[in-house]
This record gives sequence, C-alpha cells and structure tokens, in this order.
Amino acid sequence: MTKNDQTKFIFVTGGVVSSLGKGIASASLGMLLQARGLKVTILKMDPYLNVDPGTLSPYQHGEVYVTDDGAETDLDLGHYERFLNINLGKKNNATTGQIYYTVIKRERNGDYLGKTVQIIPHITDEIKRRIREVANGVDVVITEVGGTIGDIESLPFIEAIRQFRLDVGSDNLVNVHLTLVPYIRAAGEYKTKPTQHSVMRLREIGIQPDILLCRTESPLDTDLKKKIALFCSVPVDSVISADDVSTIYEVPLMLREGGLDEIVVNILELKTGKPKLSGWKKFVNKVKNPSSEVRIVVCGKYIELKDSYKSIAESFIHAGVANDTRVKLKWVEAEDIEKYGAEKYLKDMSGLLVPGGFGSRGSEGKIDAVRYARENNIPFFGICLGLQCAVIDFARNVCGLENANSTEFNENSPHPVIDLMEEQKRIKSKGGTMRLGSQPCAIKKDSLAFKIYKSELINERHRHRLEVNEKYYEILEKHGMVFSGINPELDLVEMIELPEHPWFIGVQFHPELKSRPLNVHPLFREFVGAALKYGNR
Ligand code: GLN
Repeated sequence: MTKNDQTKFIFVTGGVVSSLGKGIASASLGMLLQARGLKVTILKMDPYLNVDPGTLSPYQHGEVYVTDDGAETDLDLGHYERFLNINLGKKNNATTGQIYYTVIKRERNGDYLGKTVQIIPHITDEIKRRIREVANGVDVVITEVGGTIGDIESLPFIEAIRQFRLDVGSDNLVNVHLTLVPYIRAAGEYKTKPTQHSVMRLREIGIQPDILLCRTESPLDTDLKKKIALFCSVPVDSVISADDVSTIYEVPLMLREGGLDEIVVNILELKTGKPKLSGWKKFVNKVKNPSSEVRIVVCGKYIELKDSYKSIAESFIHAGVANDTRVKLKWVEAEDIEKYGAEKYLKDMSGLLVPGGFGSRGSEGKIDAVRYARENNIPFFGICLGLQCAVIDFARNVCGLENANSTEFNENSPHPVIDLMEEQKRIKSKGGTMRLGSQPCAIKKDSLAFKIYKSELINERHRHRLEVNEKYYEILEKHGMVFSGINPELDLVEMIELPEHPWFIGVQFHPELKSRPLNVHPLFREFVGAALKYGNR
C-alpha cells in the first residue's frame, strides 16, 4: 500500500492555445513526484468523439501509442511512460467517445432504470469513475485534460474536475493550469492578458487554479509574476515560469527550479524527501553535450509531421546518450526516393531506419531504400512495415521472385510474401482488427538478436495486420535470411536478419514504444552503435 493513506489528485488543464506541451508538463510533474518516492500514475482525457485514436490519421494526432495491454492511445502516454519509466494501459486514456459509448450502452441496457440520462451527472460520473479507477494503490493520480479551456468539447471534463474538489476535499487536490505568456515584438514586452482570460474562463466554470505554469520564451520576471498572481488570485510563488529549453528532458529540472513539486507536496500535505534526480541530470547533460554525431535516415511517409514518429525520435535520443553521441535524423519522404533514387539520400549516411506505416503510398521508395542499405552494407533497422519492405526487397532481388509484394500494396502480386493470416481475411471492419499489444517472441540462440537482447524470450508491443507469409519461409531462408525471432504461440516471424550484412535487422513489433531515457531499448542502442562503427562518410 502507499505511504500516504489518501490518494491525491492533480489535474492539468491548458489555456490560450494548444501545443504548449501539456503532456510534457504533466509527465515532468509526475516524474518529480516519483523521484520523491511517491507512487504516481497518469491518465489522459481526450475530448474527441473517436472511441480510440487507432483509426485517426497520424496527421491528425501524431503517432498512435500502443500499451502492453493493446490499447491504442494518445501519444502523451508515450511521454508519461518515458518520463516515469512505468507501463500504463487501457485505463490511462479515455476519450469523450469512450465515455459516451459506455453511458449510452448502459442506458440501452436499462441500467439507469428509466431516469433521464444527462451530461451532469451521468457523463461527469463516468469521467470521475475513470479517474478513481486508476487511483488504487497509488499516492498521486495526475489527470491531463486534452484541448484548451473554452472549447465546447472539454466542458464535461472540466465540470467533473470542479465536482472532484467537493468529493475529495481541498487538501487532496491540485489544479495546475498551463498557459501562454507571449512576447509581443512590436510592443517589446510580454503580455499577461491571454493568461488572465484563460483563468477567467476556468473560474466561470468554478475552478480556481492553484498553480499556473506560464510558457514563455525566456524566464518571467518578478513584476510579471506579481501581475499574473494578482489578476488570477494565485500566490506569486505559484506562478511558475516554463521557458523554452533545448530538450524536453530538461523540463522537469526547470520546473523543479521553479518550485513546482515543492508547492504541490505542500498543498497536498504529502510527506516526502527531496527528489532524487542525479541519474536524470546526468542523462540531460549527455543529451546536451555528446562527444560525436552520427547521421541516420528515417524513410517514411508521414515525414512532414514529426509527431507521427515521436517514439522513434525519442528512442534515438536515448540511444544517442547510451553511445555518447548525437543522432542527427534525416527525415526522407519515401516518394522522393521513388523520384530521385536511394543513393542521393543514403550515400553519406550511417544508417537507415524504415518505420511502421499503413497503405501503399511510398512503398516502392521504402523497398528501394532497403535494397540500397542491404547492398552497401549500411546498418539497417526495419520496424513493422520496415521489416515487411525488407522481406519484399529480399524476395525480389535476392530470391528472384519477380513482383513479390505485400497484399497491402498489391492484392494481385504473384508472390504475396507479406499477407494477412487466413483467419483475418474475413474481417472487414477497420477498428480493432490488428495484432495489438505485448506478445512474446522466442529468439534464436546464435543470432544477432540474441547478442543484443541476451535473452531467449522477450516481449514487445505490436500494431499491425499483415505477416510474413509462411509459404515463403523456405525460399527466404534458403537464400540467407534468418528468422531470428518467432512468436512461440502463433508461430509467426517477428524478427529477421541477414548474417552476411554487418547490421541488418527487421522487427514486426514496435521497440520504440519501450525505450526510456534511463533504460534505452537495446535494439536502438545497438543500431546506433553499428551506425557509429560504420561512420559518417
Ligand atoms: N501496414 C502494415 C500492417 O498492417 C504495417 C503496420 C505497421 O507498420 N505498424 O501489417
């Protein structure tokens, strides 16, 4: 059980504009409290009607983050898991869609016994139930509410937070509001009005924030803090400046400087020591001051929106620190490779990563990029669709299977080396038809994969429909492809490698979802190591 017998609740809302970094701020606060020895969990409430983000285009909300238990969640869960080094699950992300769906199902079941079903109390009760549901056995629950104050969509969540104070009492709850204090160049000054208005909107609904985190370009001076404190009825010490920093991993350290965790534990009357942050500080220092640099290409199709590959980019930061280097990622649009050839983009590079993806656009570019890396001994790491492209290249160009392809790209390929499993072919709906979440993988003893994992059985997270087609196992193996990881329950290929090549690995799962700053994923660590060894040309 926990040290403090009453679970405490922290709510993080955002004002003025989106994209202020509410997810990072929530994760940072969680990490600071955890570093004080408290048991912390975090959940994200997303005010959109989709039941989960799984069917959203990555252009809409960035990457879909998958948890061990197979939930397709908002990418903020990735920040939470990375900052707190914990594993979250289905219960840590709720959307308006899920909440209404639950209430409406209950109504159809007759569970409300003929009562009129309403936003207050039925929807707000369901929101509160979900917050309490994760509270068991933890000291602190942090709830981040997506969207911006003033949005129609987030109102039921804000109303639920208002009620929560009545339910648990003021010593057990903290409201943190993240706002923007913009610098207006023409006037040469910082402006507090947007923050004042945002807090006014909160107060209209009945919420008085306890702490304001003010995003600014540079630290707020005391006069500005005093002004904000006065207009927003917040103690001046609780107006905390959250300036731009060079790496997101520095945010907890900056917020600690501003006194955030101290104020929170004081309000909540939590008895803890000072946070232990030496490992984290060392990590941040290494992110900022590496001894070398290595250039790696990421070739995908959602390149314009870097958030689509958030966890991959973060994993490379972790792997850079583990190798005392800075990984410079060059994002290459797969369709550009189709137009201008792989050589143009890869010839001076030390590694190629082909990430996951859906749909045929750019597939030929990705397959050609893999061919180039394979033929030129450039370290290659294929993730999910990246593995599938590697199998296609190998089938076509090494095994001589002309027009080999994935049925996702060409249903009529004469050699469908990547295909749906028989039992999946009958399913038509798009939601929930994938292999999702953590699954076991047995590793071949004398493989590169074994050298890296140092284990014969691992677990990794999945999110895909198609698989290497078992009809082609024999010919692929005969030509030198090694299936170094196999799902022992489903007998499916999970990892491939080419022993002839210095570092060529494809994985059907998503290792980037399990890399943490202080616990880097071994595949990323070793891939970056191999890229360093290959050297910048
Ligand atoms: N589109 C492929 C599949 O469904 C790959 C998915 C992915 O890369 N996550 O199998």
